Amino acid sequence: MDEPDAGEKTVAAENVCEEEKKNAGENFINREYIEGLLKEARNVDDGTIGRYLDKAENFEGLNHREIAALLVSDAPEHLQRIFDIAGKIKRRIYGNRIVMFAPLYVSDYCVNRCRYCSFNNGHSFTRRKLSMDEVREEVKILEKMGHKRLALEAGEHDGECPIDYILDCIHSIYGMKFENGAIRRVNVNIAATTVENYRKLKEAGIGTYILFQETYHEPTYTRLHPAGPKKDFVRHLTAFDRAQEGGIDDVGGGVLFGLAADPYFEVLGLMLHNEHLEERYNVGFHTISVPRLCSAPGMNLGEFPHLVDDAVFTKIVAVIRIAVPFTGMILSTRENRVMRNKLLQLGISQISAGSSTEVGGYMKGERREAANPQFLVNDERSAVSIISELMDDGHIPSFCTACYRSGRTGDRFMILAKSGQIRNVCLPNALMTLSEYSMDYGDDVFREKVAAIIDREVPEIADERIRRRTIANVEKIRASGERDFFV
Ligand code: SAM
Repeated sequence: MDEPDAGEKTVAAENVCEEEKKNAGENFINREYIEGLLKEARNVDDGTIGRYLDKAENFEGLNHREIAALLVSDAPEHLQRIFDIAGKIKRRIYGNRIVMFAPLYVSDYCVNRCRYCSFNNGHSFTRRKLSMDEVREEVKILEKMGHKRLALEAGEHDGECPIDYILDCIHSIYGMKFENGAIRRVNVNIAATTVENYRKLKEAGIGTYILFQETYHEPTYTRLHPAGPKKDFVRHLTAFDRAQEGGIDDVGGGVLFGLAADPYFEVLGLMLHNEHLEERYNVGFHTISVPRLCSAPGMNLGEFPHLVDDAVFTKIVAVIRIAVPFTGMILSTRENRVMRNKLLQLGISQISAGSSTEVGGYMKGERREAANPQFLVNDERSAVSIISELMDDGHIPSFCTACYRSGRTGDRFMILAKSGQIRNVCLPNALMTLSEYSMDYGDDVFREKVAAIIDREVPEIADERIRRRTIANVEKIRASGERDFFV
C-alpha cells in the first residue's frame, strides 16, 4: 500500500487520538460525592428512613440519598422492613422463577495481576485453554445437566486467548445440536476490550456481556490491579460504553464484595454506573451480579481485611433489589446453600448450578487431575439437586432464553419488565422449559414434582390466551417430545 501523504497522516493521527480518547472514556464515579452521601446518611433520622421505605414499597426505586440512608441504617425495625419490601418486590416482579445457568471457563491465561484471583499472572501453575473439541466435550456435559444458558469465562491474554479464539468458542457452542435441544444463550464474561471486539461479540450472537468493576473505589482498584491492561481503572469502567458503541445493549455489572473498605460505597458506585448507562444509552444494567470474595489458590483470604459478613451482605442484596426493582440479580456458587436460599427470597433472580471454576473442570472426573480453579466454590451440590431443592422450596427453576431469542434485549426487555408483563411471558416460558427439563433429565418422582408445580402455577398466568397456549404446549412436550416453545 502507498504511504499516505502528510495531509492524510494528520487526519489519520487525529483519528487515532479520537479513538484513544473514546477508549479512555471519562470517569463518572465521583468518589467525594459518594463519600459525602454516606457521611450525610449517618445523620438521617428514623422518621425520614420510614418515608424512604414507604416510597420503596410503591416500587418507585430510590435516589442516591435514600439508598445511602438504607445502607447505613442498622435499626432492627428498618432492617426488617427492608427485607419485607425486597421480598415483596421480588415476588411481585419476578414471581418465584429462578433462571439457571452455569459458567464455562475456556482459558486461564492472563496478563493481569488481580491480587485476589488465582489466574493472576504472578501465580505459577500450568495454564491451559480448551481446544474446540474440549469446548464441545464440556458443553456436552453441561447440556446433560440440563443447562441451556452458559456464561463463558476467560482470563485476559491477547496472545493465547485473542478475540478470535473466544469467537470460535461461541460458534462451537451455538453450532452444537443435541437430542434435547441446544445451548440457547451464551453470555460472555471476558475482560474489557475494544469497540471493534465488542462488535465481533455482538455479531457472534452473545447474550449478556458481563463485566465486574471489582471495586468502584479507585485507590483500592489501583492497589489491587498493579499490572496489565486491567490496571487502568477508567478503561475498565468505560467498557460498557464501548460495548454499547459496538452494538451490545445487554450488559451486566457487578462488584467483588470484600475488596474495598466500605461495601456501601460499592453499592452507590453500581448505582452511578447504572445511571450513567441509562442516561447515555437509555438502558442500564440488565443484571447486577453480587460476587463475594472467596478463597483461591495462590491468594490468602487473610490478607483481605474487608470481607463482607453475611448480615451486611444480606442487607446489600435487599437494598439493591429495592433500589433497582427491574434489574435482574445474579448469585453464583461463591455463596453456600444457606445464603443462596435466603437471598433468593430477597431479590436474586438468577443462579448458577453445578459450577466448575476451572478450565476443563466439567470433564475433569473423566480426564484429568491437575486443577487450578479461579476460586473455590461454596455450593458444591449437583445441578439436579439444586434444581430439585429449589422446587421443594416453592421456586420454579427456569431454563428460559426467550427474550434473547426474540430480540427482547436492552430497553425492550426493560419495557416488558416495567409493564408487569413478566407474569404473562416469563412465567409460561419458565413452566414450559421446566417441563422440557423434567422430560429430558428427570425421573418419575421429579416429573411428578414438576407436574404439581405446573398445576399450581398455570392459573397464575393472567392472559387467558397465553394460559391456554401454555397448557397445550406442556401437553405437546410430554406427549410428542416437541421442544423449544416460548412466548
Ligand atoms: N478476566 C476477566 C476480567 O478481568 O474481567 C473476566 C472475569 S473472571 C473470569 C470472573 C470474575 O471472577 C472476576 O471479574 C472477579 O470478580 C471474580 N473473581 C476473581 N477472583 C475471585 C475470588 N477469589 N473470589 C471470588 N470471585 C473472584
